[in-house]
Amino acid sequence: MAIVIDKELCNGCGRCVKVCPYGGVELRDGKAVITDRCTACGTCIEVCNVHAISSDIKEKEIPDFSEYQGVWVFAEQREGVISRVTFELLGLGQRLAQELNQDLSAVLLGDEVKHLVKELDEFGAHNIYLAQHKLLAQYQTNPYAKVISGIVSEHKPCIFLIGASTIGRDLAPRISMRLNLGLTADCTELTIDPEDGSLLQTRPAFGGDVMATIKTPYSRPQMATVRPGVMEATKRDGTGQCRIIEKKVRLLDKDRLTEILGVVREEKSGVNLADAKVIVAGGRGVGSKEGFQCIVSLAEALGGEVAGTRIVIEEGWLPAARQVGQTGQTVRPELYIACGISGAIQHRAGMLGSRYVIAVNTDERAPIFEVADWGIVGNLHEVVPSLTSTLKEKGWIGI
Ligand SMILES: Cc1cc2nc3c(=O)[nH]c(=O)nc-3n(C[C@H](O)[C@H](O)[C@H](O)COP(=O)(O)OP(=O)(O)OC[C@H]3O[C@@H](n4cnc5c(N)ncnc54)[C@H](O)[C@@H]3O)c2cc1C
Repeated sequence: MAIVIDKELCNGCGRCVKVCPYGGVELRDGKAVITDRCTACGTCIEVCNVHAISSDIKEKEIPDFSEYQGVWVFAEQREGVISRVTFELLGLGQRLAQELNQDLSAVLLGDEVKHLVKELDEFGAHNIYLAQHKLLAQYQTNPYAKVISGIVSEHKPCIFLIGASTIGRDLAPRISMRLNLGLTADCTELTIDPEDGSLLQTRPAFGGDVMATIKTPYSRPQMATVRPGVMEATKRDGTGQCRIIEKKVRLLDKDRLTEILGVVREEKSGVNLADAKVIVAGGRGVGSKEGFQCIVSLAEALGGEVAGTRIVIEEGWLPAARQVGQTGQTVRPELYIACGISGAIQHRAGMLGSRYVIAVNTDERAPIFEVADWGIVGNLHEVVPSLTSTLKEKGWIGI
């Protein structure tokens, strides 16, 4: 048993019984006794005033991971085009690698994709692990997971980052499962712990109500996925001297498990929030579908896009492709104007990368003002048309 009670010391106060969330302790003959419902969470130890409760679980020793070196990024490509999230991760990876004083590497898989190495180099990769094979031409779960797991096991990176794209969300858990690694999905922030150099992985938790920071002390590499649009893409300032490490690929037809019979492209919604320089977003405070006309007019005057909160989408005031937030799009415009939006954490998760934020809200205590550079307390149906007409009068149309 992991939790131990010293009957001599126990005074039968019952504090442990009250705090145990699982019914794992009970009083028998005036003394505390552990039941088979105990999960060894240790809550009872903390509340015992007479130190009668202890644990015989030994703290797990942290292994020596000094041979795991380098920050790796999975270079996602489709039909020979590297996805934008790869460049965002290379930007992030550069920062992490500099802090750790280690190299930044990219892992590129495909068939006849060597020409893409130049682009990865330009975006800061020092090393490129290149695996080419006809079975890697199109993304398929098993061959990709198998090849990458092999390369990771052999070269032992310290950190491995993957975009939380459709491909990344499929691939990352397969690799972590194969290599018995921890994985933190959908991170919004990644930093290095100054104390021990480990990766601090921050992501929304409990339905987005809190931000949790997670560490991976017992396995390497530390694996995380990051949603597209959350990080800023790095600049093209590579040295042109990256090292290419070509890996031999041994794949058989049976490694595929599935066969791609055809590819059906999803029709584009025509909405491109990810690249918009200006976004004018409305929330429940807009009041109705018709009420959005003033938001549309301001967006048009600024040459920007219109977006909304989840409530706006649920009400049918805007199409789903225009939702910003944890379950919508992540955006990074130069200017984000939030009108009638309270600033719930799930909404903020999608717009915190905006360069400047202006908030218009009738409630001066609305949380959106905490992240706004400028705040206007007022009715959006007065403030927004007045902003639009002032812009037009002054000739400040388009940004
Ligand atoms: C798992 C999960 C995922 C979620 N994902 C998302 C997501 O991706 N995106 C998202 O947006 N939400 C998401 N939500 C919902 C989120 O928690 C909030 O409920 C939502 O963002 C609130 O939208 P809102 O700001 O439009 O509405 P409200 O919170 O109701 O705020 C309306 C605001 O408008 C102001 N207002 C009212 N009238 C006016 C006026 N005339 N002029 C100016 N201001 C006015 C009010 O003072 C208030 O601050 C998610 C929730 C969960 C649980």
